[in-house]
Amino acid sequence: MEIHRPATPLEPNDDIYTTLGVKRRINAAGTLTRLGGALMAPEVIGAMAAAAGYSVDIGELQAAASRTIARITGAEAGIVTTGAAAALTLAAAASMTRWDITKMAALPHADGFAHEILLPRTHHTGYAHALRASGARLVDISHNDRGAGAGVRGIEPWDIEAAITSKTAAFAFAANPTSIGDLPTVVSVCKARGIPVIVDAAAQLPPKSNLRRLFELGADLVAFSGGKAIGGPQASGILAGRRDLVGAALVQQLDMDVAPETWTPPDLIDRAALKGVPHHGLGRGFKAGKEEIAGLLVALERFANADDEAANAALEARLERIAEMLGGLPGIGTQLLSARETGRVPQLRLVIDPAVADIDALGLSRTLLSADMPVHLSERFAHQGILIIDPQALRAEDEEELVAAVKRAVLA
Ligand SMILES: *Cc1c(COP(=O)(O)O)cnc(C)c1O
Repeated sequence: MEIHRPATPLEPNDDIYTTLGVKRRINAAGTLTRLGGALMAPEVIGAMAAAAGYSVDIGELQAAASRTIARITGAEAGIVTTGAAAALTLAAAASMTRWDITKMAALPHADGFAHEILLPRTHHTGYAHALRASGARLVDISHNDRGAGAGVRGIEPWDIEAAITSKTAAFAFAANPTSIGDLPTVVSVCKARGIPVIVDAAAQLPPKSNLRRLFELGADLVAFSGGKAIGGPQASGILAGRRDLVGAALVQQLDMDVAPETWTPPDLIDRAALKGVPHHGLGRGFKAGKEEIAGLLVALERFANADDEAANAALEARLERIAEMLGGLPGIGTQLLSARETGRVPQLRLVIDPAVADIDALGLSRTLLSADMPVHLSERFAHQGILIIDPQALRAEDEEELVAAVKRAVLA
C-alpha cells in the first residue's frame, strides 16, 4: 500500500531566510549537510506540514515506517533516525546491547561487555566517530591492499577471523562502488560467528538498486541518509536491517519516560525479551519527529518510484546548456559526465588551466563563495584543478546566475 500524499503540496519560498538576514546560496555542490542537504519536493514539504498538526504515538509511527522501509528495501525492519550518522551510532549501540536493558543503561560505558567493532583500516572515514559515540571501541583490521590502492588482495577471511575475540560486538563496513566487492567475504565470516555487519551506505544512493542490494548481500544493519539523494528532510536517515537489532535501536531512541503499567510498545520492540522497561537510551538525543518521519517516507516512495533515466536525461540537458553558456572562457574547459559514467547522477566538470585562466580551482571557488549570491561548486577534485557542478540541489532558475558568476570571476 502506497502512503497517502497530501492534496495540497506546499511551494517553497525564501522569505524566511530574508527575514532572518541569512543569505540564500546557489548550490551546485550537491546535497551537502552544511548547505542544508536535499531540496525537498513540494509533496514532501506538504507531508511534513500535514503531519505537524496532529498527535500520534511515535512508536506506532516508527512501526509504520518500518513496514514501508521493509517493503522498499527488502530488509526485515527499519526506523527513521535523524540521519545516517545517528543510524550508525544506534546500530553500534544495538549490536552491543541487543535486548539487555542493563547494557542499554550502561552506555556509553561499555567496558563490561563485548564492545569492540572491527573496522577495516581503509574504511575508517570521518564518520567512524559516529560508531565510537556509542561507547564502542574501534579495532582497525585488515591489510586490504586493493582498498588502499597498493595491490590485488582485498579483505580476506583470515584477516577477520584473526581479529575476532569475545569482545567483538560488530563489524563496520563503509560501502562504495569499490569496497562493496569485499562485502560477501565479510558477511560470510561474520554470519558464521554471529557478529552483526553494519554498513555505512549514507551516500550510496543513487543507484537506487543499492536500497535492496546491501541486504541481498547479507548486511545486518544499513545506514542511509534521508537528506541526500532520497530528498527527504535534512535531519532524517534510515536504519534498516535485522528486526531484533532495529528494535533494540528503536527502544534506545524513543522517549522512555513511561509508566511500565501503561507502556504499549510497537511489535518491533520485543517486550518479552526485555527484563524491564528501559529508561531513556543512548539515542534519546536523536529523536525523529513525526514531521521528519512523514517527510522521509513520502520522499523514499518518490525516490524508489522515480524514472531515473528520465530524471538523469533532464539533468544532463541542463548541464549541457550550462556548458554551452560557459563555452569559450579562457582556461576553463568543460567535461560532461553521464550518470552511467559517474555511477550516480550526471555532473559537469570545469577543468581549470591556471596558467591561462589566471586563477586556480580553489581561487575560483573562493571568489564564487564571496559573491553577493554565493555560488558553491564541489571542491572534491579541486586538488586536480577541477571544480564540479553537481545538479542535485541546483535550482533551475539559478543556472544563469551561476554562469554569470563564473564568468565574472574568470574575466575579472
Ligand atoms: C553523509 C554521510 C554520513 C552522514 O549522514 P547524515 O545523514 O548526514 O547523518 C555518513 N557516512 C557517509 C559516508 C556520508 O557520506
